[in-house]
Amino acid sequence: MNTFQDLGLNEDLLHAITDLGFEKPSDVQDKAIPILLDQETDLVALAQTGTGKTAAFGFPMLQKINVDSRTTQGLILSPTRELCLQITNEMKQYGKYCKGLNVVAIYGGASISDQAREVKRGAQIIVATPGRMKDMISRRMVDISKIEYSVLDEADEMLNMGFKEDITDILSHTPDEKNTWLFSATMPKEVSNIAKRFMQNPVEITVGNKNESTNQVSHEYYLVNSRDRYQALKRLSDANPDIFSVIFCRTKRDTQKVAENLIEDGYSAGALHGDLSQNQRDLVMKSFRNKQIQMLVATDVAARGIDVDDITHVINYQLPDEPEIYTHRSGRTGRAGKTGISMVIVSKSEVRKIKSIERIIKKQFEKKVIPDGMEICEVQLMSLANKIQNTEVNHEIDKYLTSINDLFEDTSKDELIKKFFSVEFTRFFNYYQKTKNLNASESSSDRDGGKDYSVNSNDSRYFINVGRKDGYDWMSLKDFLKDVLELGRDDVFKVDVKESFSFFNTDKAIQQKVLDFFTDFKHNGRFVNVEVSEDKGRSNNRSRGGGRRDDKRGGKRRDDRRGGERRSNPRGDSGSRSDRRSGERRSESRDGFKNRSDRRSSENSSGSRRSDSESRTENSGSSRPRRSRR
Ligand code: ADP
Ligand code: MG
Repeated sequence: MNTFQDLGLNEDLLHAITDLGFEKPSDVQDKAIPILLDQETDLVALAQTGTGKTAAFGFPMLQKINVDSRTTQGLILSPTRELCLQITNEMKQYGKYCKGLNVVAIYGGASISDQAREVKRGAQIIVATPGRMKDMISRRMVDISKIEYSVLDEADEMLNMGFKEDITDILSHTPDEKNTWLFSATMPKEVSNIAKRFMQNPVEITVGNKNESTNQVSHEYYLVNSRDRYQALKRLSDANPDIFSVIFCRTKRDTQKVAENLIEDGYSAGALHGDLSQNQRDLVMKSFRNKQIQMLVATDVAARGIDVDDITHVINYQLPDEPEIYTHRSGRTGRAGKTGISMVIVSKSEVRKIKSIERIIKKQFEKKVIPDGMEICEVQLMSLANKIQNTEVNHEIDKYLTSINDLFEDTSKDELIKKFFSVEFTRFFNYYQKTKNLNASESSSDRDGGKDYSVNSNDSRYFINVGRKDGYDWMSLKDFLKDVLELGRDDVFKVDVKESFSFFNTDKAIQQKVLDFFTDFKHNGRFVNVEVSEDKGRSNNRSRGGGRRDDKRGGKRRDDRRGGERRSNPRGDSGSRSDRRSGERRSESRDGFKNRSDRRSSENSSGSRRSDSESRTENSGSSRPRRSRR
């Protein structure tokens, strides 16, 4: 392997490289630098994000330009303001011993006249986003007619973002005899078209396979029901206490919503999308870089500028529409020689997309299961134990130690440790002990069309005294139930209609609401009676006589049962059934969690109430299990 000296770089650059602590060239640097230094040629270089492309074109450009002249000789186009600033910053560091060097960044969202003034002072190198560059050319604020080297960085991203016209326009103002160096992570048709159009016999170099995602990234997917997506996200985060991640959503709205939910649930999260002002985006990115934000929820477009090295996880909250985009997402982790994990949360209907992504990245996904509550408790506990072990004692606490020691005089070390860890553990334990298994099975058939009427421990199964003779089939009964209960489409399932009675399931979290609603509900002049069925789906041959009707007015039996539940309610408040919503309130308080979506549930129509039933189980409000993170 070559050293930087071997590549032919001059003393000024080598000096800066030593300062930066780069020990040896990366693959793409090793291949590109000697070619660009020795030849006046066009170049197409394919390499993943995080492979050191900036230096691969930056070092040669710095060595080749004339710093004694104030003419603009180098132009670097990059897709986003973020990247533009990043490249400018890197170039300044690489060239810190090149006396007289002036690198100027040109990008939207900042004062154009300030930028024009900086250029006028004599910028040998301009780093620009296409939009602002074009603008400044048309206002004659820059002169790029003497450009000798132009770089199209992240060419695939620029084309993805619709900058083709702008790039064409900008390059038309540059001399024909310049050299163009194109850098890209992937090589879709549009990129090779651009290469053909603007370059002459470019030297091509490839690091790794074309379109292959980085080796340091492992790919995992988690199969869940759509309605459990958010809970799954939280568990993945809880199971990785030191997570530092980008979470990708498909739309700005989802991005905003997921971020808001995470924040309300006590996670250190932030949103990054195009509806935010530049200022807001800058703030979010700053907090993310400083690791004040552990989970950055972003759209694909907004995330293009993210160039942060230590990202441990990329989470695909939703898969992108185009499988190619997955490569860009997963490339945000596993950078600069580190390993990373790209996780995908998928529903059954999306599983096939995993296959097409595997073909593109030429790597296999590992199917993993969402950890259950107890695993998470264990992970969190051990993480805390490790953190404590590695904590340096802050001697500022010395002055309080006497009083603390007094307090624990009679507590043994063993007891003290138990108490200390319980503070944290209990919070997670209380939260997770009753939560359900989120993993969906790939093979299970449609919930209602299929024959599986069994109940899992997270569902409640009910008996209802209407059946075929009342004109219902499973579909119409399901519709009826979801309408009267104001539930979402997926909230009533495993509906099994018999001659004079039926069964159905809901999430256990809304059991109380269902029972309360039917306490004295009349339909077509008769009381509709609903009870929790104890036979867990093995009910088909059980005879249910008309005697059931005796219980219809919320008879003793049911009240007793509810009494039992009431006792398990930590707040002990059961409320009275004055309206339908009281049932909700009760089931919330029974879990000990405040329903943070109260506001939304009253605003929303039935279509989105699903998320509210989720809220009641895992989307907690004030009593979330999170430690606050700084
Ligand atoms: P890319 O443009 O390919 O995504 P960058 O040029 O942004 O990658 O480099 C990624 C990170 O790796 C940067 O922090 C950069 O300073 C660092 N880096 C680049 N070259 C080297 C090297 N030879 N040795 C160590 N770190 C490097
Ligand atoms: Mg780059």
